[in-house]
Amino acid sequence: MSVTLDLSRVAPAEKQTGADAAKPPVNLSGLTRPQLIAALTESGVVEHGKAKMRATQVFRWIHHRGVTDFAQMSDVAKETRARLAETFTIARPEVVERQVSKDGTRKWLIRMAPGIEVETVYIPSVGRVGALCVSSQVGCTLNCSFCHTGTQPLVRNLTAAEIVAQVQIAKDDLAEWPSDKEDRLLSNIVFMGMGEPLYNLGQVSDAIEIISDNEGIGISRRRITVSTSGVVPMLGKLGETTQAMLAISLHATNDPLRDELVPLNKKYPIAQLMDGIRAYPGLSNARRVTFEYVMLKGVNDSPDEARALVKLIKGIPAKINLIPFNPWPGSQYECSDWGAIETFAAILNKAGYSSPIRTPRGRDILAACGQLKSESEKVRASALRKLSMAAMAGMLEEEDDAA
Ligand code: SAH
Ligand code: SF4
Repeated sequence: MSVTLDLSRVAPAEKQTGADAAKPPVNLSGLTRPQLIAALTESGVVEHGKAKMRATQVFRWIHHRGVTDFAQMSDVAKETRARLAETFTIARPEVVERQVSKDGTRKWLIRMAPGIEVETVYIPSVGRVGALCVSSQVGCTLNCSFCHTGTQPLVRNLTAAEIVAQVQIAKDDLAEWPSDKEDRLLSNIVFMGMGEPLYNLGQVSDAIEIISDNEGIGISRRRITVSTSGVVPMLGKLGETTQAMLAISLHATNDPLRDELVPLNKKYPIAQLMDGIRAYPGLSNARRVTFEYVMLKGVNDSPDEARALVKLIKGIPAKINLIPFNPWPGSQYECSDWGAIETFAAILNKAGYSSPIRTPRGRDILAACGQLKSESEKVRASALRKLSMAAMAGMLEEEDDAA
């Protein structure tokens, strides 16, 4: 049975004032531990002196045990549990659709609120054991010409609670509670779903703090990758506040072509982007940046472009992830021929860069999505894109072994 919860009206500024009866209850899943301490004291549910201890206890129930009902918090006094339940919520949003591929890829369509639906995909055998691809926005304000999400207007940013909920739902389905369970299936998180995470950095960074907290889900920050189309002024802040691994959607080695593929390039051209990457906090051989490069037939896939790429990223600790383009209805590109991709990869490999090309996973369930009717167009579009996410997430495999 699923529990429906409307998180859409929980604006970040309201998070600390759960006692206001006129507003929907704050979901405690979206609060970092310091925020949780503040919420518990400000609501009057917990007295000041005990707030830190109580917050850790509650945090552990939510993120270590995965409970969705305050009644299950057996070491919290009954009256306190009742007060918590009156004031806050820890319910999950509704899973409207769940699909499992023959290869083990799992996909959930999650309804955060009416009309606010996102997809989350779990890809096995990626990263240390398996990666979860999460969304940071519904839609996107940027219009990359090869990306279907870019054709959907931005609906809104997701809250930290909604980002964390994607991880919780995956863990429910994978039976990953308690979080320190042996033989876990979920080891990595990639922000490669819908949206531009650096345009929602506050919520993304709170979500990363929650997901990486060792009292809870405990996924190490070096196993969390944030992919950006290149919002240069936010790169420093991303590194400082999250210490996450960085992935850059590069896709071209010269400005005229990148302007066309990733229009944000007009604002932050390649030279500026490269300077921003070089300055990314914590960049080293053990913490390399990933360049994502979508392979578009006759557009960016020539051997000369591979050589230009090697030259462009010289001196940056990096690996390159070559993503076979996934066409969508109305898209103006084709995927490069396999031979062209291999030649491209060989040039990068010869220059010393790891450049995995991954066969997309979960084709069977995505093909089923392709048969959905037009009212589900949005779902189908993002599902198609998840094919590329599955391929991209393949890059984590080698990196993570070095951890
Ligand atoms: N907005 C962020 C993260 C989400 S997009 C970003 O652009 O990095 C995640 C990745 O999917 C990006 O590298 C993007 O370029 C790639 N992508 C988008 N559409 C694609 C398609 N049709 N085929 C292959 N990769 C695609
Ligand atoms: Fe937005 Fe990323 Fe798609 Fe570009 S590739 S439109 S930034 S989601």
